[in-house]
Amino acid sequence: MPSTGGDAPDEAVVTYERRGPVAAVTLNRPRYRNAQNSKMTYALDAAFTRAVDDDEVKVIVLAGAGEHFCAGHDIGTPDRDVDESFERKAVIWWDHTEREGVDRRWARESEVYLGMCRRWREIPKPVIAMVHGACVAGGLMLAWCCDFIVASDDAFFADPVVRMGIPGVEYFAHPWVMNPRAAKEFLYTGERFSAEQAREWGMVNRTVPLEELESETYRIAERISAMPAFGLALTKRAVNQAEDLQGMRSGMDSVFGLHHAAHAHNAEVGGDSLAGMDARRMRDAGRSAS
Ligand code: ZN
Repeated sequence: MPSTGGDAPDEAVVTYERRGPVAAVTLNRPRYRNAQNSKMTYALDAAFTRAVDDDEVKVIVLAGAGEHFCAGHDIGTPDRDVDESFERKAVIWWDHTEREGVDRRWARESEVYLGMCRRWREIPKPVIAMVHGACVAGGLMLAWCCDFIVASDDAFFADPVVRMGIPGVEYFAHPWVMNPRAAKEFLYTGERFSAEQAREWGMVNRTVPLEELESETYRIAERISAMPAFGLALTKRAVNQAEDLQGMRSGMDSVFGLHHAAHAHNAEVGGDSLAGMDARRMRDAGRSAS
């Protein structure tokens, strides 16, 4: 029988490993540049929960297997699972699968995108994103809800969804993780920005050569792990609350409405909430623009 592609049935889409006081959580769909489907979202959630429940774990490192951190949400692999139900964890809302239009999209995206990222931002242990290769669109959301980002010199960052007529990904942290002018350049151009540029903008903490990425990330993680766990949890909450007092949470709520106006407009005028774009078309549009 010919292969139809897709994930192997026994392949874990997220892997978990304890390394001393560090939990290594790794996105594991390297064949698809770690594109996130819902199965991966809930596997990630389970891995984070396991790390929180393990008293020996002080710090979590989130990484991507293969050549890239994460290329974004799954908008076209054989295992795209937007029509499937999962046990909802992030919000109390109805299941999306029997709904239509905005009702359907709102239910799904408030759970698996905005809700999950907010839930993970509140993990009471420090989480470091260890980023190499692509960190694009939905990949940004994952990196941004971590406490900070260590990136290798080959890493690049982009949110090209304005090409779909959509004002940025669902977890709209752009003007808070970089300055508002940088956020506009980032969004208006949809270009790939280097790790060094992202560091200058304040989005990335450190850039290191690729071969030193893991050692440097784990060096920082080990150092953090010497701090008392409850002190770290309170400190995380303190900084997160300060961000929210600067309007991040309410800003994201208001932009989520604009995001869904864009999806609805696309569906109304073109019959497709993503403006007819799939992963290949997005890639081709990016190439022809650069
Ligand atoms: Zn969306």
